[in-house]
Amino acid sequence: MKNHPIRGGVHPRYWKELASGQPIAAFPLPARLSLPLQQHVGAAAIPLVEPGQRVRKGERIALAPGAMSAPLHAPTSGVVHAIEEITAAHASGLPQLAIVIDSDGLDEWAELPAPLADPFAAPPEEIVRRVAEAGIVGQGGAVFPTAVKLGMGKQYRLDTLLLNGAECEPYITSDDRVMREHAAEVIDGARIMAHALGVAKIIIAIKKNKPEAIAIMREAARAFAGIEVVGVKIQYPIGYAQYLTQAVTGRETPAGRRNAEVGVVVQNVATALAVQRAVRHGVPLISRVVTVTGTAVSRAGNFEVPIGTPVAELIAHCGGYRARPRFLVNGGPMMGFQLPDENVPVVKGCVGIVALAEEETARQPEQACIRCGTCMDVCPIGLPPVEMAQLIRKDRLDDAARLGVGDCIACGSCAWACPSHIPLVQYFNHANGALWTADRQQRKNERLRQLAEARSARLEAARQERLAAQAARKARAAAPRQEISE
Ligand code: SF4
Ligand code: SF4
Repeated sequence: MKNHPIRGGVHPRYWKELASGQPIAAFPLPARLSLPLQQHVGAAAIPLVEPGQRVRKGERIALAPGAMSAPLHAPTSGVVHAIEEITAAHASGLPQLAIVIDSDGLDEWAELPAPLADPFAAPPEEIVRRVAEAGIVGQGGAVFPTAVKLGMGKQYRLDTLLLNGAECEPYITSDDRVMREHAAEVIDGARIMAHALGVAKIIIAIKKNKPEAIAIMREAARAFAGIEVVGVKIQYPIGYAQYLTQAVTGRETPAGRRNAEVGVVVQNVATALAVQRAVRHGVPLISRVVTVTGTAVSRAGNFEVPIGTPVAELIAHCGGYRARPRFLVNGGPMMGFQLPDENVPVVKGCVGIVALAEEETARQPEQACIRCGTCMDVCPIGLPPVEMAQLIRKDRLDDAARLGVGDCIACGSCAWACPSHIPLVQYFNHANGALWTADRQQRKNERLRQLAEARSARLEAARQERLAAQAARKARAAAPRQEISE
């Protein structure tokens, strides 16, 4: 299958060689695990346990309050130490409520749901139900509840499951290793997801800088009809779902719309592995493969890490730092975010931890825009970054919104390519944050206005009722006098 043309994109140095040769190793069980209640898109999970309570591995410890949420499960056996605020694994570093478990070292399993012997004979709803109960969210970092995506066959006319193995962020190699070491399970998970979606076609897209993964996945897929493994261009951000869909199928998803609207559902390869484990073995999402890398780390590697493990333990396990890190990033350096400190836990969407040394991050001084147009050429969405940044500088956020700043995916390509080293993406993140806050405030004001109007209407109705009652009382009082006079 040939690649279709796509707009823009850049070619950063990928640094994959630091960790791509390291097989996935089991990570030693930490003494304490912290599981934030909000590790997914949607409502936070609600704790089902209390401090002092003993839990076993795989036991559900927090429930999902709605479909757009995900439950949490204990990654090992032990005792709930506390339900308390910890520093969020987020750039904000704000406090976040988490269930903290002290491991008892026994790693004793709870009773798990019985495996589905033949998932392809089960109704799609049963697959979706099991995936929801296993707490699986998009493993590529988007953390969208997977069960919600698998239910999209009811809402949209779908024909293709696109499995994303592009892994276009520099440094990160977790998906590469998952495909090379768990190819059969990934293919099985993809087939189970395709069954849930009701589609016959599966395309597995892998960036061409992973030749081993392409070969191994092709071999694993050979026995099944309807699966195609496609090598895609070595270009950033080819792994962005809409971009990848266009590169592989030629279908363009309109801005602000879902991929499913063009008949394609995109899932990450690691999500396919998680689905396979949940459906075939009843195992919920309690661990994931994480790359620990960057030039500041002594020994890079890929590890199967229990969710909730402190990042500091990952770094220590890799021999600590060989150079003082300037940035510690969750995810890749292009779309990831700087961690507030090492004490935050690994969460469900963590593909990697990248410690960047001073020399990799040396910032060139910002200079004046030379109107070269490079930022427009590389933007995968077709936005005008230079115009948007100028408007944002003048605080004309509404005008920037009209130019499409809300469609910016914060891929960082424009800033990376700008010869004047203008931190363009920072402007767009700032503008989108401010626009989002303003929009929320506007919706809140509208809601308050509606509540005030409803209250006025209620008071008016009550006043009318009182007047009617008074009039009725007067009428009744007048009636006997009339009888007497008669
Ligand atoms: S960060 Fe936004 S504006 Fe810049 S290239 Fe990416 S999508 Fe375009
Ligand atoms: S790439 Fe940089 S210098 Fe060139 S037009 Fe865009 S903002 Fe200006």
